[in-house]
This record gives sequence, structure tokens and C-alpha cells, in this order.
Amino acid sequence: MAAPPPQDAGLVFSGVIRTPWTSRLMTPRMGRADGPVCRIEVYEPWREALSGVEKFERLEVLYWLHLSRRDLVRQSPANDGSTRGTFALRSPARPNPIGTTIATLAGVEGSTLLVRGMDCLDGTPLLDIKPDRTLFQPIAPPQPGDFETG
Ligand code: SAM
Repeated sequence: MAAPPPQDAGLVFSGVIRTPWTSRLMTPRMGRADGPVCRIEVYEPWREALSGVEKFERLEVLYWLHLSRRDLVRQSPANDGSTRGTFALRSPARPNPIGTTIATLAGVEGSTLLVRGMDCLDGTPLLDIKPDRTLFQPIAPPQPGDFETG
């Protein structure tokens, strides 16, 4: 099936991520829980959206890997001639270059989160922040689908 025409997903950059890395070649391939403390600076009006995040030891952070290629269907991460499909990789090169990590919350300073576990360049746009799903219990009442199995 052919892809439908491109559509604007209407993403909002809700902040910027400050890290020690200015070169893709120096950036960790995957963030680590004991990595350096980085800063997630949240733009207005989203500062108020941080209310309650301090209750969670870990946060899922989504970001826009803005310098990525978006046209690679297969890739050779080891550069050894063998290739794998983009959807079987966590490479930054993908049709919609969304990066995710589980960050450890080290502190909150106003509209800035201090976190460990990042693997993006300094200046990477922030898309979203959610509590780590393993720490989060839905607050809204359950719905029938919650009990469906099989
Ligand atoms: N942890 C995320 C994930 O799994 O979705 C990203 C993993 S990706 C392999 C991390 C690599 O993306 C870094 O090592 C760096 O080479 C590259 N990268 C980081 N920030 C980027 C940016 N803003 N634009 C393009 N590439 C970036």
C-alpha cells in the first residue's frame, strides 16, 4: 500500500533540551541512568504542565531529533554492508525522528527539569514528558476496555 500524501502532524515544541553534547558522534547512543545531569527547559505556557512531575522518579521524555535524515528505509548501523529495516532499529534516522528515553528526575528548578538519561544534542527540541508507565496508575476511572483480555 502506498503512503498517503504527507500531512502536518501539528507538533508543538514545548521546550528545549540542554545537554553537554554538540556533536552527534560524541552523544551517547542510548542514555544511561548514571549519565550526566541535563536540563529540560520548558517553554510557557507549559511550565504549569510540570505540576506533579516531582512525584515520579522516572519520566518518559520524547524529543525531536531535528538533524536526522528522514528518508532511510534500510540502514547499516555497523557500516559493514549488512542492513536492517528502520523500524527494527532505534536509529535517529526515521520518517518521523522522534527520540524517547526514560530519564531519571534529579530535580525541578521552576520551569526546568534536571534529568539523567539523555542521549540528544544540545538544543534538541522537546516534544513531551510523561510519567514512566511502570510508575503510573491511571487516575481517571477504568473503562470496559481495561478488562478485555485475549
Ligand atoms: N534514545 C532515543 C531513542 O531510542 O529513541 C534516541 C536514540 S538515537 C540512537 C541517539 C543518537 O541520535 C545519538 O547518539 C546521536 O548520534 C543522535 N542524535 C542525538 N540528538 C540528535 C538530534 N537532535 N538530531 C539528530 N540526531 C541526533
